[in-house]
Amino acid sequence: MNIQQNIQLQPYNSFRTKARAKLFCEPESVEQLSEVLRSYPNEPKLVIGNGCNLFFTKDFDGLVIHPRMRGIRPVLDNDSIVELETGAGEEWDNFVNHCVEKGYAGIENLSLIPGTVGAAPIQNIGAYGTEVKDAIVRVHAVNKDTGDPETFPAEACEFGYRDSMFKRTRQYIVTSVVFRLSKSFAYTEKYADLNRELASVPHPSLKQVREAIIRIRRRKLPDPAELPNAGSFFKNPLLTMEEKERLLAKLPDAPIYPIGTGKFKTSAAFLIEKAGYKGKRNGPVGIYERHALIIVNYATENGNDIVDFMHEVQQAVDKKFGIRLEPEVRIY
Ligand code: FAD
Ligand code: NAP
Repeated sequence: MNIQQNIQLQPYNSFRTKARAKLFCEPESVEQLSEVLRSYPNEPKLVIGNGCNLFFTKDFDGLVIHPRMRGIRPVLDNDSIVELETGAGEEWDNFVNHCVEKGYAGIENLSLIPGTVGAAPIQNIGAYGTEVKDAIVRVHAVNKDTGDPETFPAEACEFGYRDSMFKRTRQYIVTSVVFRLSKSFAYTEKYADLNRELASVPHPSLKQVREAIIRIRRRKLPDPAELPNAGSFFKNPLLTMEEKERLLAKLPDAPIYPIGTGKFKTSAAFLIEKAGYKGKRNGPVGIYERHALIIVNYATENGNDIVDFMHEVQQAVDKKFGIRLEPEVRIY
């Protein structure tokens, strides 16, 4: 496999910040990946998919791996369900489209999320009341240190809210994911924005749900190809009962969603808006005018400008509401 040197990573992250990788490779199979990992045991390693959830503040002095394993392969098929093994290098939304076209239900609410299939389990991607963990049967990955392939049943992935064992340990490179999808579908109302969009449709089909989500997302979110961004910059804060009460005393209309085990989720976008940051710009970086959770890059190639702006927003929210926002986006 070709190992490239001194590669510019600007095209490989949706914020379009500049950084160079000492070494760069694009394995197309598990065997190629294992071989390259064993050939460079002492280099620091970084995996990137489409770079829609990360950006760079400095050069990477090691090996950047861009997995290119392709293919969608049925591994089980009966009257009610199908299981598909999908390569890490496939585009996530192409895969969702494939499933919807075939009438396979389970991931349609995750339409139009940019990125690769391999990255989907890393932060357990979620939208409109669905998380990808609910469709994942197992994840095939390679251990970064040994180059050995390993298989993780869903229970071993320790999926949480925008979280997984893969994200915490950074020890594995996902090579393919097995999804279980249903051959039957009936729309259930679980998310206000989506219900509103489908209000005039009596029994929405799988395709109508996907199309509704695509319409909402195109209205609300900036296209990274036109205005560089990495989607929601911060995670929604999870609060204890005490923290929730303290927030409601300051902001009685703050949205609160109980998530079980005595914890509550509030909306980071709401807090940022109430701190006066929606649509605010500071030099080359700002918050998108139609969505307070999205930091957009108007004019910089230096990731540190984005970090400076992130700190400014964190401080403003902390000062006003006593809540520390944590980035969802990975900063390298
Ligand atoms: P990258 O950004 O390249 O990588 C993300 C992380 O995963 C990095 O830490 C990387 O090291 C690791 N990684 C990537 N591939 C692998 C692999 N094969 N094996 C091991 N580690 C790997 N996210 C949501 O959850 N819900 C949304 O609705 C959503 N909407 C978005 C909208 C916009 C406009 C944008 C720009 C982003 C949005 N995101 C959303 C975030 C992003 O799309 C997801 O996190 C997506 O999974 C990133 O995929 P990627 O291939 O670009 O991963
Ligand atoms: P929204 O509908 O304006 O809602 C704002 C926030 O409230 C969301 O973050 C959502 O949390 C939460 N929420 C709304 N209804 C909920 C419910 N019934 N139960 C629990 N939580 C609820 O959100 P939006 O910004 O337009 O995004 C729509 C969906 O796409 C969301 O699920 C969001 O996560 C996802 N999205 C994610 C990214 C990303 O980069 N991660 C970017 C764009 C959109 P959740 O975020 O937990 O769903």
